[in-house]
Amino acid sequence: MEGMNQMNDMSAVVEADRAHVWHHLIQHKQFETIDPRVIVEGKGMKVWDAKGKEHLDAVSGGVWTVNVGYGRESIANAVRDQLIKMNYFAGAAGSVPGSIFAKRLIEKMPGMSRVYYSNSGSEANEKVYKMVRQIAHRHHGGKKWKILYRDRDYHGTTIAALASAGQDQRAMQYGPFPDGFVRVPHCLEYRKQWDVENYGERAADAIEEVILREGPDTVGCLILEPVTAGGGVIVPPKGYWERVQEICKKYNVLLAIDEVVCGVGRTGVWFGYQNYGIKPDFVTMAKGVASGYAAISCTVTTEAVFEMFKDDPTDPMSYFRDISTFGGCTSGPAAALENMRIIEDEGLLDNTVKMGERCLSNLQALMDKHKVVGDVRGKGLFLGAELVADRATKEPVDEKQAQAVVADCMAQGVIIGVTNRSLPGLNNTLCLSPALIATPDDIDRITDAIDGALTRVFG
Ligand code: PMP
Repeated sequence: MEGMNQMNDMSAVVEADRAHVWHHLIQHKQFETIDPRVIVEGKGMKVWDAKGKEHLDAVSGGVWTVNVGYGRESIANAVRDQLIKMNYFAGAAGSVPGSIFAKRLIEKMPGMSRVYYSNSGSEANEKVYKMVRQIAHRHHGGKKWKILYRDRDYHGTTIAALASAGQDQRAMQYGPFPDGFVRVPHCLEYRKQWDVENYGERAADAIEEVILREGPDTVGCLILEPVTAGGGVIVPPKGYWERVQEICKKYNVLLAIDEVVCGVGRTGVWFGYQNYGIKPDFVTMAKGVASGYAAISCTVTTEAVFEMFKDDPTDPMSYFRDISTFGGCTSGPAAALENMRIIEDEGLLDNTVKMGERCLSNLQALMDKHKVVGDVRGKGLFLGAELVADRATKEPVDEKQAQAVVADCMAQGVIIGVTNRSLPGLNNTLCLSPALIATPDDIDRITDAIDGALTRVFG
C-alpha cells in the first residue's frame, strides 16, 4: 500500500521512471534536461500526462493501437470477469473467449479458417515464417523456403522479423540475420522507380522479377502490409493488388498480409486487404485486435494452409511444433470480443470512412496552403503527409524539421507521429491514426494544429 501511495505522487513516479525505465524508441540523454513523458490517464481521444497536461491523441496510443479510444469500462469489465473465472491455461488447451472470438473473427474474414493466438505483431509474423518453413520441409522437399518482403514495410522487432524489415535504420545494428529473406521494391508512386502509366502493375511486376531471379521453386511466401504504416503510409496504386495476387498464384507463392496496423477497422473495413479483394493465405493482426486493453495477436490461415499440417500417423512431429506461453491468456480474446462489439454497435467502420475522408480533404487543403507538403495519402483513419524541401525535386525536409512539427503540435496539445528513424534520409512523413471514434471537431483540431506548426516551422 505504501508503495502505491508513494506512486500517487507524480513527481516520485517521474523520478522512478527516469531512474529505472528503459524507454522504447528514444535516446535517454534528453531526460537529463526534460522529464520523461508518463501518461497517467485517458478518456476517449484524450490523454493526460504526469504534469496534468491534456493532449488530443491523433496516433491512438503512439503506434496505431487504441482503435476504440481510452477508458472503455465495458472492456475492463469483460476482462475482469474473465480473469476471475479463468485467467490462463496454455499448451494444447483452448478457452471460452478464445473459441468464441476465433469464430467471430472468421465470420469477418470469408475464405479464412483458423486462428493461432500469440501476443505481439512480431510473434504473429514469426509464426507465419515458421509455418512457411515447415511447409517447405513437409511438402516441397526443403525448397520454397524463401520469404519475400517489401522495401519500406515492417513486420516486427525480433531478429527474424527484422530480417524482413524494409526499413534499414531499424535493422542496421542487429545483423547478421537468418538467410532466406529477400526484398522486393516498394510501390509508392510519389517516389517513382519506373516511368510508366500503369504504375501499380509495374510495381507488382517487380515482385515477379525477384521471384524469377531467385527461382520460383525457392520462394514460399510473400509478406506485405495492405497499406504500409511506419514506412510512410503507402496506399498501393491501382492495379497493384490484382497483379500481386496473380503472381502469387502463378508461382505457387503463399500470400501473407500483415494487418498488425490495418487490422480491425483502421482503414474503414475490418481488414485492410478487404479494400482490395485479396485472397490471402495468412493474415496477421495485433494492435487494434483489443485496442491495447490486453496483449493479443493472431495468425489467421486458410483451411488449405491448416491442412498442410495434417497429422501423419507415422510421424509424431507432424504438427505445428510451436507454442506461445501467453497465447493462453484469456484476457486477450475477452478484450478482443468486447472491442469488436463496440466497433459494430457504435458503427465505427462507417465513422472511420467519413472521418478519414474529412481528414484527407483537410490535409489536401494544407497541401494547397503549404508548399512543404509534397504529398498526402491515406485510407480510412490512417493518413500521412510527406514534407519536402522542394516540390520539383521532392527532396525530403531534414528529419529534425519534421520532428519540430511534431513537437510544435505537442506544445499545442495534439500528439501526432512521424516516420521515426526508419528510412535513411526519408523520415519526413507525418503520420495520423486517430481512434475510430474521432469526431469532426477532433479531426479539424488535429489538422489545424499541423497547419499552425507548418507555419511556425517553415514560415
Ligand atoms: N507489423 C507492422 C506492420 C507493425 O507496424 C508492427 C509494429 N509497429 C509490427 C508488425 C510488430 O508488432 P509488435 O510491436 O506488436 O511486435
